[in-house]
Amino acid sequence: MKEISPSSTIRVLRLAKELERQGKKIINMGIGEPDLDTPPHIKRAAEEALERGMTKYTTSAGLLELREAIAEHMGTKGFKTESKNVLITPGAKHAIFCAMTAALDPGDEVIIPSPCWTYEAMVRIVGAKPVYVETTDEKGFKLEIKKVEEVLSPKTKMILLNYPNNPTGAVMTKKELHPIADIAVDRDLWVLSDEIYDCLVYEGGHASILSSPKMPERTIYINGFSKAYSMTGWRLGYAVAAAELITEMTKIQEATTSSATSFVQAAGVTALRGPQEFTMKMREEYSKRRDVIVKGLSSIKGFSCTKPGGAFYAFPNIKRLGVNSLEFCEILLREGGIAAVPGSGFGPYGEGHVRFSYATSMENIEEAIERVKKVAEDIHK
Ligand code: PMP
Repeated sequence: MKEISPSSTIRVLRLAKELERQGKKIINMGIGEPDLDTPPHIKRAAEEALERGMTKYTTSAGLLELREAIAEHMGTKGFKTESKNVLITPGAKHAIFCAMTAALDPGDEVIIPSPCWTYEAMVRIVGAKPVYVETTDEKGFKLEIKKVEEVLSPKTKMILLNYPNNPTGAVMTKKELHPIADIAVDRDLWVLSDEIYDCLVYEGGHASILSSPKMPERTIYINGFSKAYSMTGWRLGYAVAAAELITEMTKIQEATTSSATSFVQAAGVTALRGPQEFTMKMREEYSKRRDVIVKGLSSIKGFSCTKPGGAFYAFPNIKRLGVNSLEFCEILLREGGIAAVPGSGFGPYGEGHVRFSYATSMENIEEAIERVKKVAEDIHK
């Protein structure tokens, strides 16, 4: 456990809560969840399931009806799969944990592009080792194949992909993903592809490594309901993978949480089979917010901001300000009343950046840009 450090973001978010308690109005751009409520028809489905008495355990892999709905949903994205390839979990995070526990042995290496979300703790808990590959502003935070080749070793067991990316918003095209798939096939590796933001790609549509040849058998595809249907608190996610691996992952779930919550799974069926306007509208709205925040942050002296192709984060480079990301976030919170996450929380290559979530109102975004500008100007003085 000593190898697992508590998240550096917690310090800033704790301070934000403290300032709020003191009556200060904080604009929270730190959290990674949509600001919209879950659509009412999904809430109703959960209520109806409760009334029907869906209050008992489900099978460990999850309700068959939801696994079928997920398989169907994958079909609409162009990936043929079956219910036996699906594991439903309490949140995508637990699907990732089950995947790592089932697929990795102690000492195995996992290649992770950084800046990246908080996968490290899970890799360490199973005794494996994260091997980071830097992605840079200059390359739009895309994963460069030569950098992956440089870190391959006989111990490499898995490549972890997350596109659209948290925190950078980077997306990868089919063509850019192909060479990574080739490496995985040549070296007989797993690819864990966390595609939880696939519903939020702003131009050109989402590409999955699943569409590369021979990838379905070695890809552990992760998705969930948190972002697409604004259901973060419901805890519902899933993995799609080879049936043999799903069987092993199911054992991990059985040993830890038994299953995802029964009536939440019922609501998941409605989310997937019901109207999809919510997600489309959210994408349209977030696309407008993205344009405003990127333009605003780019206009600030000391900032440069790559335009994110997906997800709902802006990840500007603040290296020219001359303070580190944690110091900057603390000043920004105390002086500007804005909670944002220091880049140092996103693996070894996140430093020098700050993550702002634009899953907040346009009014908050506009106000935040003014406040960030003022704080940055004061730092320059
Ligand atoms: N993957 C990424 C990249 C995320 O940003 C998040 C949530 N912040 C998750 C997975 C976890 O999602 P869930 O709420 O379904 O556990």
